[in-house]
Amino acid sequence: MSQKKFYITTAIAYPNWKPHMGHALEIIIADALARMHRMTWKEVEFQTGTDEHGIKNRRTAQKEWKNILDFLDENVLAFQDMYSKLNISYNTFVRTSDQKKHYPGVQKIRQKMADKWDIYKQAYSGFYCAGCESFKTEKDLVNEKCIDHPNQEIEKIEEENYFFKLSKYKDQVIDLIKKDKYKIFPEIRKNEMLAFLENARDISFSRPKSSLPWGIPVPKDEEHIMYVWCDALSNYLTGQWYGLNENWKNTRPADLHIVWKDIQRFHAAFWPAMLLSTDIDLPKELLAHGFLTVNGNKMGKSTGNAINPMEAIEKYGRDPLVFNLLYDVASDGDGDFSMNRLNSVYNSMLIGSWWNLVNRVSKLSEKFWITKGKLWNNENWFKDFNINTISDFLKNHDTKWYLEKRYHLVQKSNEYITKEEPWIKYKNENTKIEAIECLEFLLYVVKNLSILSAPILVDSFEKIKNIIWTNILDWLSTETNTSFEIWENAFNVTEFNVNIHSEIIYSRIEE
Ligand SMILES: [Zn+2]
Repeated sequence: MSQKKFYITTAIAYPNWKPHMGHALEIIIADALARMHRMTWKEVEFQTGTDEHGIKNRRTAQKEWKNILDFLDENVLAFQDMYSKLNISYNTFVRTSDQKKHYPGVQKIRQKMADKWDIYKQAYSGFYCAGCESFKTEKDLVNEKCIDHPNQEIEKIEEENYFFKLSKYKDQVIDLIKKDKYKIFPEIRKNEMLAFLENARDISFSRPKSSLPWGIPVPKDEEHIMYVWCDALSNYLTGQWYGLNENWKNTRPADLHIVWKDIQRFHAAFWPAMLLSTDIDLPKELLAHGFLTVNGNKMGKSTGNAINPMEAIEKYGRDPLVFNLLYDVASDGDGDFSMNRLNSVYNSMLIGSWWNLVNRVSKLSEKFWITKGKLWNNENWFKDFNINTISDFLKNHDTKWYLEKRYHLVQKSNEYITKEEPWIKYKNENTKIEAIECLEFLLYVVKNLSILSAPILVDSFEKIKNIIWTNILDWLSTETNTSFEIWENAFNVTEFNVNIHSEIIYSRIEE
């Protein structure tokens, strides 16, 4: 059997509309982490996809007078188009409407659970939020409305459903989460999940076909649809060919599932219980990230404040948006987004600081015929970035920390060149050598700052390779797996040849 891969996933997006900036955030977090993990010697399998069944999709398609599959194809394409403009490095895209790849695995998982007597049929009466596509208990509601969908009527439901015995597994799941065998990040979400699990009851595992005709039928009972947990959560297995061949075993246990905090319950409680029932290893970790907000309010279709990411990508390019979102949203909290802020991040932090440094260093180096980069002073500018520490902070998924530290070094480099004035020193025979050493040192610094930015400023990294050509940067890629040794060597090389072709590519953009 081939080697175990580092398996990282996003939640599958619900394509009943075009993607908004919040969708961009999740895939961007996942992409940066996938690229960083590739940088630290792991073979990465990065999966994303779309959750296509459900009443909301069907109703929207009907409202638009479209065939459900045409409607979905259109929206799924919009997601894929955004991912491609963001240069997202996923390997697998799973669609839950895929009858060849997804259906057989889902039915197999359900059968295994049924074989354990973990699924039973019972009358259900309660509430259903079509916005969330999930059942609600009385205490989930505020003023008889769903907390996340206060503008929608809650549906009262009385029907016969299949149920999954979550209660049978909850103590085991609590134990695994407490011991961090299934780690929930951040800590605050872990505590919320432990509290939820204490009182967890069995969960509805199907809907009658009469009320939900668009989904995967329950085997041997076609009047029922397997909505929603067995259908949606099983994507983490079916995307890897579960039910069809043995490839899925190469990604077990899953290393990291990345989800919005409002769906953490399904991933922290339901999914591990389902896996215990089917005798499949639990994932190692769940990262429940925060919301993207607009003036402090959660961004979303139903709140009416969704921002279209395509405009931002077209105007500024992929890197500035990625940098902005990862810099402003910590992995353990919410973060605000505005086009104003993106403009200022672009003009001051990227053009004014990073590209300004690259431009100054490359132009002067070209002018003064500098042919190598060299670490001249003994002070260790990169002590926060001993490449071994990258694996440490990856444990906290802390791209914000990473970008702040790196940005600090960019500023320090700009201050250094301003203070040293190599353009003046070069003209004086007594200080000419100092000017040369200053630029050689800054070429070394730019090399390492470029390496550090490679998983995030993906397009910029390719451009820098052309401006400051050195075989060391040519070694590296964050799209394919690079061995840890190559990265470590590239980072630690203290003297190397360069060939400079300076050019100014970027300039400020007006708001
Ligand atoms: Zn809701």
